[in-house]
Amino acid sequence: MRSQDFDRLYLSPPHLGRHELNYLHKAIEDNWVAPVGPNLDGFERDICEFTGAGHCVALTSGTAAIHLGLRLLGVGPGDEVLCSSFTFVATASPILYLGATPVFVDSETTTWNMCPERLREAIEDRIRQGHRPKALILVHLYGMPARLREILAIAAEFDIPVLEDAAEALGSRYEGQPLGSFGAVGVFSFNGNKILTTSGGGALVTNDAVWAQKARFWATQARDAAPYYQHSELGYNYRLSNLLAGIGRGQMGLLEDRVKKRREIHAWYCERLRHVPGLVFAPQEPAGSRTNRWLTTVLLDAEQTTVTPEQLRLHLETRNIESRPLWKPLHLQPLFADVPHYGGVVCEDLFARGLCLPSGSAMSDMDLRRVLEAVKELL
Ligand SMILES: *Cc1c(COP(=O)(O)O)cnc(C)c1O
Repeated sequence: MRSQDFDRLYLSPPHLGRHELNYLHKAIEDNWVAPVGPNLDGFERDICEFTGAGHCVALTSGTAAIHLGLRLLGVGPGDEVLCSSFTFVATASPILYLGATPVFVDSETTTWNMCPERLREAIEDRIRQGHRPKALILVHLYGMPARLREILAIAAEFDIPVLEDAAEALGSRYEGQPLGSFGAVGVFSFNGNKILTTSGGGALVTNDAVWAQKARFWATQARDAAPYYQHSELGYNYRLSNLLAGIGRGQMGLLEDRVKKRREIHAWYCERLRHVPGLVFAPQEPAGSRTNRWLTTVLLDAEQTTVTPEQLRLHLETRNIESRPLWKPLHLQPLFADVPHYGGVVCEDLFARGLCLPSGSAMSDMDLRRVLEAVKELL
């Protein structure tokens, strides 16, 4: 069969359920499409309920949530913010929005997230140089919980507040507790490729009521309490619409199911491809962690196969299957050429050897078999 005979198999496409339309319908019927409304309140309540966070602010994107979260932590011009190097650019762009500088920290090999040893080294060195880091952004990449206990302990020791970038990790848990609820601020994304989607959207969670109020204020143009338009602070247009929040309400009801499905997909690939020489399933789930397996990732072992991740990606492409390289580390990005970084070889090596396989929760058995056959053809 030619590749055109198959529909394109995407990496992680949106997967809608049956109730999103009801919430949208109701919003249109009631003329509640803007600006706020019952879906927005309900969506925020659903997120609080799931994460255990005291307060939630639904926003237009995860990036917006990181931006507001860093501002809540007091980040401003000239500050330095510690940040995982191995992540999507949107983790760090908001540091630049605020006129601050990122300081990148390498990964460790067990979870692929921020390395506690490199973190300590970075903090001590920055302080020696007279730059006490203002905040720390901790990412849970591909849904895998970072080494939270160690990292939170180091952050507490140096009194540095933590923002958790859980954009990829909604539904993941660490020692039973949902990710996003460990830091002073937690951030989720509801972009189209994430485990749940509102087509585009994000959320900020915190236990601080004053901070939540402040984030809402900034997200709606920072309008002072006056009958006319008066502004004492800089604001943004970042609030999620009541329509999209309706999609979010329908999606939140599906979260446990979607996590279960993504974990099953990961287990399915592992079981059938584990013994293919040169193909390594990583990272593994450490005891006490429960990842949502947002994307199934693999590494190619150059000692066992001559096939490179790029060759595998191109081969899957000929079968009309989308796969993606792992995130290119931020300390290698031209945008951040002059930024300090601590370590880097661990995530550089992962980037060189890794690939993300199609992991969408709507994948059928036939879809999975297509990927399986295509991988086996080459390896
Ligand atoms: C998707 C993502 C973001 C940004 O979320 P958007 O909703 O797309 O703005 C931030 N950080 C990570 C790690 C992400 O994967």
